[in-house]
Amino acid sequence: MAISRLLIANRGEIALRIHRAAHEMGIETVAVHSTADADAMHVRLADHAICIGPPAARDSYLNVAAIISAAEISRADAIHPGYGFLSENAQFAEIVEAHDITWIGPKPEHIRTMGDKVAAKRTAGALGLPLVPGSDGAVDDIGEARKVAAEIGYPVLVKAASGGGGRGMKVVPSEDQLETLISQARSEAKAAFGDDTVYIEKYLGNPRHIEFQIFGDGKGNAIHLGERDCSLQRRHQKVLEEAPSPVITPAERDRMGGIVARAMADMGYRGAGTIEFLWENGEFYFIEMNTRLQVEHPVTEAITGVDLVREQIRIAEGLPLSVLQEDIVFSGHAIECRINAEDPWNFTPSPGLVESYHAAGGMHVRVDSGLYAGYRIPPYYDSMIAKLIVYGRTREGCIMRLRRALDEMVVGGVKTSIPLHQAIIRDPDFESGDYSIKWLEQWLEEKVGLAAAEHAGDSGQ
Ligand code: ADP
Repeated sequence: MAISRLLIANRGEIALRIHRAAHEMGIETVAVHSTADADAMHVRLADHAICIGPPAARDSYLNVAAIISAAEISRADAIHPGYGFLSENAQFAEIVEAHDITWIGPKPEHIRTMGDKVAAKRTAGALGLPLVPGSDGAVDDIGEARKVAAEIGYPVLVKAASGGGGRGMKVVPSEDQLETLISQARSEAKAAFGDDTVYIEKYLGNPRHIEFQIFGDGKGNAIHLGERDCSLQRRHQKVLEEAPSPVITPAERDRMGGIVARAMADMGYRGAGTIEFLWENGEFYFIEMNTRLQVEHPVTEAITGVDLVREQIRIAEGLPLSVLQEDIVFSGHAIECRINAEDPWNFTPSPGLVESYHAAGGMHVRVDSGLYAGYRIPPYYDSMIAKLIVYGRTREGCIMRLRRALDEMVVGGVKTSIPLHQAIIRDPDFESGDYSIKWLEQWLEEKVGLAAAEHAGDSGQ
């Protein structure tokens, strides 16, 4: 059914991103916002805006009753959750659908399955995706844990079934530390997610993080839009992403993309999704699936020319996929820098008044951001304030253009991670594409003298 008025249950750049796609399709938008976001750009640009609560996210952007009421009051006929907040909350998706509002997202049962990492791994395995060797499901007692760990060999990684953001994860170097670290992982997971279920995986020493973008129509058809390389991470958080990956050949992309798309088709998956793998010595190992749009989706848009949000909306309307697998041509190279309001070297948040603002521009340069001069960045939410996405016909050309674009950006009055990106992209390892998920923390330690590894204690690494 055609959507005419879309409520965007999010804030910041992603709310703007969704608003833009909707308007280009002739769809009206309804912004929701906390009291702290009354002056935000996503509120200013939307056709209608409704305040849904005080600053704390649990009282506003996570407030299901307030969001559903806002949809009813504004007579919105669809809800797009963006990423984060309620985007992977199966119950919210069910409530939306129970109110006869179109949910722009996957089927609730798929959100639920993939949100439980143990169930996700089992499902992925059954669908034929290669897995990281590990326990077959949850590990309940220490005897079983010892047996599994001995079989796969140390070091092993203990992970929380409900995990996210790297929490509840512990690297276990040897058997004598297994019991202690499992109980630490359990209490961390219990505190963070209210669920102390853990499982065990082989700990890969030096992998890359490579993820495939997929789309399903919910009726048994699915396509892949290639991979993104998100190996540049700090504390398991992505910092910079690129597409294609510098290490994946076109033949490998076709092969793995084909496996992934077939798995999604078999599952009857609907909407956008990302299958995340670790990649080491030419082998892919499934780690998790995200049942939503990703922050880094624009690099895929840049190299395929497919508007992923438009595609999400079309699928929610019950339309077929707008492109067939054979229509998708991967061309050129794209890199995204996540620009955060934080100290670039010690990462302390730096909210406050943006005194001046100039976005980079020019050919093949995209800035997704709600910033403007005079905007006050609130301290209550994620520190990401802008994404700079640059395209080039070659990776080298893309890096040259990215240098120029980063040098042009001005965000005055607050500290930002722009200087960090300027330094990373001038490093010879980055230039050669030779980096793993460990690279950035090691680089920070060496180049900046920041003991990143020490601070990474919360994930046990
Ligand atoms: P979360 O949902 O908490 O983000 P993921 O399973 O997506 O957890 O893993 C996050 C990151 O942790 C990965 O990108 C990678 O850097 C690291 N990681 C996860 N599993 C492994 C593993 N088996 N070996 C080594 N590193 C891992």
